[in-house]
Amino acid sequence: KFITFEGIDGAGKSTHIDWLCHWLRSQGKEVVSTREPGGTPLGEKLRTLILNEPMHLETEALLVFAARREHLAEVIEPALARGAWVVSDRFTDATFAYQGGGRGISREKLQILETWTHGHLQPDLTLLFDLPLEVARQRIIAERNLDRFEREQAEFHERVRFAYLDRAAKSHGRIRTLQSDRTPEEIRQSLEEIIVTFCK
Ligand code: C5P
Repeated sequence: KFITFEGIDGAGKSTHIDWLCHWLRSQGKEVVSTREPGGTPLGEKLRTLILNEPMHLETEALLVFAARREHLAEVIEPALARGAWVVSDRFTDATFAYQGGGRGISREKLQILETWTHGHLQPDLTLLFDLPLEVARQRIIAERNLDRFEREQAEFHERVRFAYLDRAAKSHGRIRTLQSDRTPEEIRQSLEEIIVTFCK
């Protein structure tokens, strides 16, 4: 099975990804934990470029998909083929949210790249960590990790958030939204309910 985690910056998904991988392993499953942009040596190089180098917005989208093609070929597809579970911190929903909603690339263009890159492969389950922008911002300030957040306007993150929510609403249940302005313990409980039902 292929499970992805999504959400705006500051949504706090990392600790929950660790918990899920640990839980799945305790159920005897082989788990491959990975992330995007990145997940392979070449993908990590592309990630550094994507996150640090000023570039045309469509160049950014093409590089995100280039990194993803490599990620699929080297990590995701082989793992799924041998029956492992793949847990990825972000996948194509992030592209529709950041490069689409955030930067304004049309859904049609991104869909062409999606079809080209991964045909009919979609995550089996996506966990979307959602919270008000201001709460996310406060968390990032508390972690003194404002670099990238500061560089973008608040409206950018607002557009990313609503693109995620819109995509969740149209996902026919694949994307499950977790209200993330709660305590980590409360979020983990919701996550556990979702995953236990999913694994039945
Ligand atoms: O989730 P993570 O913190 O690793 O994401 C790193 C950065 O990459 C985030 O700031 C996010 O805004 C950005 N990103 C992006 N486009 C994507 C995926 C992530 O701009 N498709």
